[in-house]
Amino acid sequence: MRKKPTVFTYVLCAALVGCVIGVFILAPKTVEAYRGYVTERDATPTPTALTASVLQVTEDPNNTPAPTAMYLRVGSTGDEVKRLQTRLKELGFYAGDVDGQYGQGTAAAVKLFQSQHGLTADGLAGTETLGDLYSDAAQTYIPTPTPSPTPSLLSKGDKGDAVRALQQRLKDLGYYTGNVDGDFGGATQEAVRLFQSQNSMDVDGISGGATLTAIFASDAPSVAITPTPDPSTLPLLVNKDHPVAEGYQAQDLVVLRNVLPASLVYVKGSDIQGNREAAAALQEMFEAAKADGITGWQISAGYRSYAYQQQLFDDQVAAFVSQGKSKTAAISATRLTIADPGTSEHHTGLAFDITVADTIFKGTKQQIWMNKNCWDYGFIIRYPEGKEKITGYVAECWHIRYVGVQHSTVMRDHDWCLEEYIEAMTKQ
Ligand SMILES: [Zn+2]
Repeated sequence: MRKKPTVFTYVLCAALVGCVIGVFILAPKTVEAYRGYVTERDATPTPTALTASVLQVTEDPNNTPAPTAMYLRVGSTGDEVKRLQTRLKELGFYAGDVDGQYGQGTAAAVKLFQSQHGLTADGLAGTETLGDLYSDAAQTYIPTPTPSPTPSLLSKGDKGDAVRALQQRLKDLGYYTGNVDGDFGGATQEAVRLFQSQNSMDVDGISGGATLTAIFASDAPSVAITPTPDPSTLPLLVNKDHPVAEGYQAQDLVVLRNVLPASLVYVKGSDIQGNREAAAALQEMFEAAKADGITGWQISAGYRSYAYQQQLFDDQVAAFVSQGKSKTAAISATRLTIADPGTSEHHTGLAFDITVADTIFKGTKQQIWMNKNCWDYGFIIRYPEGKEKITGYVAECWHIRYVGVQHSTVMRDHDWCLEEYIEAMTKQ
């Protein structure tokens, strides 16, 4: 009977001592933290004036009251957005239409305004940003100076703030439609080329010297027209309705293992071939992926001859027949995943099946990376999800097709599959 209370008392005492020690150790820290908080709070400027100016705007009876207009962002619409665009335009940050649609262009202008005014450049127009924007102290746009002194030359593969500034500038001028991500990829190169060709400069896609100066010049011209690709330069369409002729021969084939470093990608078959230009684009793409920490790629298919496709097709039909399907049913089932000879893109040497060894490709970090980035290297996801009715194929996240960046980036930006793209480009 006496043991229990003793133990209990001991535990209680220990707990109490612990608490007291805890208070002595923690209390000063808490007080310190609180002091820090108070200091920080006092140092942060009270945003009264800014809030007031926004509220005034909102309360204006001549305008539709917009009670939630304290926070404008991509997707916002209406008069508050129009007012924002007008003001940004007035100050020289925005060159687009005053249409009341808060799109990427408006967000980019807001970001420019924010970074020039020492605000977090997040493209969201909140109380603070709107307050500064409508205040008399708002500055007019000062064009980003040439990113100097070091990067006097920017070209494909470069990364960093100088590239970001270049992309933003090209975007402001309408030459670039991709992400301002500080990564000089194929799309950025195309934008530089477009700028050069429209401004009578040597077209090399490299931003250096005269090109860089011209891009950042205060009177740099905006993009003239969205150039329509010459129909004869459109990518070759190969599908069920557009088969290649039986004697078709793919051009400029190379054995992939001979040209692609094994350290970058594993080519599953020693005889897998591909078009030389497309293979070079593959290498660039895998190098970029590696730089992003994504490795472990495998190429499991490339060029296929007519005869090989015929065999592939016949083998699958035979497999279905052996499972009990009728010949007709087997052919129909085969057609869902294997192209009829002549109708496979693999005949062109421009299509590749990219995988990860011994894994279902879909959902891997490689697949996610490729889905997002292949466009910058001239590839398209040829059979995307949601386009099955148009392409005639079940979605294939592993099958990419080389078309060149001038086409791939447009397809990405419009969410067009190849059939849609060619239709759009040949319609006019
Ligand atoms: Zn394929």
